[in-house]
Amino acid sequence: MTSSRRPDIPVVTLRPGREKSVIRRHPWIFSGAVSSVSGNPGRGENVELRDSNDRPLAIGAWSSESSIRVRIWSPDPDQAVDRSFFERRIESAFALRRRLGLLQPEGGCRIVHAESDGLPGLIVDLYRDVAVCQFLSAGADHHRDVITALLMGRAEISTVWERSDATIREKEGLEPRRGLIAGREPEPLIEISEEGCRYLVDIREGHKTGFYLDQRANRALVRQSAAGKSVLNCFSYTGAFGIAAAIGGASEIVNVDTSAPALELASRNAALNGVTADFENHEADVFSRLRGWRSEGRKFDCVILDPPKFAEARAQVDRACRGYKDINILAFQLLAPGGLLFTFSCSGAIAFELFQKVVADAAIDAGRETRILMRLEESPDHSVPLTFPEGRYLKGMKIEVGD
Ligand code: SAH
Repeated sequence: MTSSRRPDIPVVTLRPGREKSVIRRHPWIFSGAVSSVSGNPGRGENVELRDSNDRPLAIGAWSSESSIRVRIWSPDPDQAVDRSFFERRIESAFALRRRLGLLQPEGGCRIVHAESDGLPGLIVDLYRDVAVCQFLSAGADHHRDVITALLMGRAEISTVWERSDATIREKEGLEPRRGLIAGREPEPLIEISEEGCRYLVDIREGHKTGFYLDQRANRALVRQSAAGKSVLNCFSYTGAFGIAAAIGGASEIVNVDTSAPALELASRNAALNGVTADFENHEADVFSRLRGWRSEGRKFDCVILDPPKFAEARAQVDRACRGYKDINILAFQLLAPGGLLFTFSCSGAIAFELFQKVVADAAIDAGRETRILMRLEESPDHSVPLTFPEGRYLKGMKIEVGD
């Protein structure tokens, strides 16, 4: 039976043995681990977690509809989840990015990376002084007002914009929502600078919060390897890898994406950066466009493959792997002797080892000798605790092909 240590907080009791993940500091409790719930918690409200012997374990947020039933705010069951709690978590998230040297007034940076910053379900990306937020879990959504007020209270931020329109909200029973929450209406496009490159970010209609901040370190690597090269940037979105390559001295940039608005922004980004390299945009499906170039015998010195998530869940891994293999075969076939491939997967359901195997199979089918020059991952503003490996999703390789 549950005793009421704090009568205001409902209690979620776990099945025997299911406290192990909590003790290992993992932030999620799945529905199958829950033995009973007392006190009828509302969506997103605090619940106290207890083990099967009724010992308090942690405090978390109740998600009534998601298979992740509780997301843990703190392993201290007595922790108050109040304004000062959120203030401390947000401050330490800022402090980390400051230590990493990623907090620049005119830059872009992920400030809050959800579970990895102790704030499950909350994403905050900062573009100059505009914070773009995603409240993706019931718990984060429940505290939206206090989080917004705390962000607005910070010197780095003048506007809070919401992009809670990710489909994952459906699993939490939450409606999509987007628009201005606080501050002044932002510019139609926000210009950020990143290591000498400038990018226009569309926070209203762009993907995620507008820009792929997770690829920052990899853009820098592309830039360092691009001098004099022809660069094929597949799944280019707004052309960020191509701009980095151009600033690094590439002779030719070819972007391929199915999205016309993304490519239009890629052209504007090229103009903004004064790109003088040959610059082509192809509004096309990467699979068919690359097949076309293969039959024409077109070659590139460097190919970037940064596709969308092919596997949303474990059930899609096999099909996703076929997709990854297909595009990687095409890339290997289009690479000139000694060429470079930057190949990525952002499917969390696909582990690095599996991805490497798929790309290896592609190289064999294409008949290319290869060498992994570097393993690639998210930039450190997306870093995760050791105890939360699920937070990692981006994996990639810089590969050199033989002659
Ligand atoms: N590399 C980008 C991010 C890529 S996001 C960056 O660093 O900013 C994935 C992109 O792939 C999206 O822009 C989407 O429009 C595009 N896309 C998805 N499927 C595609 C396909 N089959 N062919 C071409 N582009 C595709």
